[in-house]
Amino acid sequence: MINRNFKSLILIAILILTTAVISFPVQEEKNLPGVTLISVYDNYQVDTRLTTAWGFATIIKMPQELILFDTGGNSEILLSNMKRLGINLNSIKKVVISHIHGDHVGGLEGFLEKNSDVTVFIPHSFPQSIKNMITKKGARFVEVFTPRKISDFVYTTGQIPGPPGEQSLIIDSKKGLIVITGCAHPGIVNIVKRVKELMKKGVYLVLGGFHYPPISCIKEFRKLQVEKVAPSHCTGDSVGEVFRKEYKENFIEYGVGKIIEIR
Ligand SMILES: [Zn+2]
Ligand SMILES: [Zn+2]
Repeated sequence: MINRNFKSLILIAILILTTAVISFPVQEEKNLPGVTLISVYDNYQVDTRLTTAWGFATIIKMPQELILFDTGGNSEILLSNMKRLGINLNSIKKVVISHIHGDHVGGLEGFLEKNSDVTVFIPHSFPQSIKNMITKKGARFVEVFTPRKISDFVYTTGQIPGPPGEQSLIIDSKKGLIVITGCAHPGIVNIVKRVKELMKKGVYLVLGGFHYPPISCIKEFRKLQVEKVAPSHCTGDSVGEVFRKEYKENFIEYGVGKIIEIR
C-alpha cells in the first residue's frame, strides 16, 4: 500500500515538474535554419513602391513554411504590399497576433477572406468576437497562455501581462535568437530578459515596435548583449536615433519592404 502511494506521488511530482518547467530543446548550431524576415506593413518605409500606414506586420520565411506576425491595421494595404513583394498568400500557414490593438489585428479579417487555411495564434485574453470571426472565416485559432512552440525553431513568449497582454515571437536561427515584437507594451527590456531566461541563449536581433522606451533601455540592451537591433513602428524617432548611433553597423533600418536574410 505504502509502495503504491509512493509511486503515485512520484508520478504526480513528475507531471507537475514537466508542466511547470517549460524549456525548449537546445538545437545543435549546424541544424539551425536560415531565416528571411520581410516587412509587409509599417509606418516606416524602406521600399518606396509600397504603402505605409500606422501598424506592423512581418513575414517570417522559414524553410518549412511562412508565418505572418501581425496584420497591420488595414487588410487592403497588407494584401497589396504582399502582392508587390511577390508573397504567395497560400504559403502562409500560420498567423501570430501580438496583441489586441487595431494596428496589429485590423488586417486579420480581410487576410482570412483570401487565405483561411491557417492557424491563428492569439493571446488568450482576446475577446470572443475575434475568436468567432476567425472560425466563421474557416480558419483555426490557438489561444496562447504560456511559452510554446509555433513551428520548427519558432516559439512564442506566451502572453506577457501588459496592458494589453502581448506575445512576442522567438526564432532560433543560425546566428542566435531573433525576437520580434509588435508594440512591446510589456516593456521591450522585459521581453528580451524573458526570452533569454526561456531559451538560455544569446540574442542576435531584436526587431519590431519597442513602444517609446526610455533612452536607458539602450544600456540595458548592451547589458543583455543584444547583437543587432531593428527598431520600427512605435519605437519613437528620438530613441531610434540613439539606437542608430550606439549600434552603428549593427543597427538595421526596418520599415515596409525591408528584407533581412539571416544565413
Ligand atoms: Zn502598434
Ligand atoms: Zn499596441
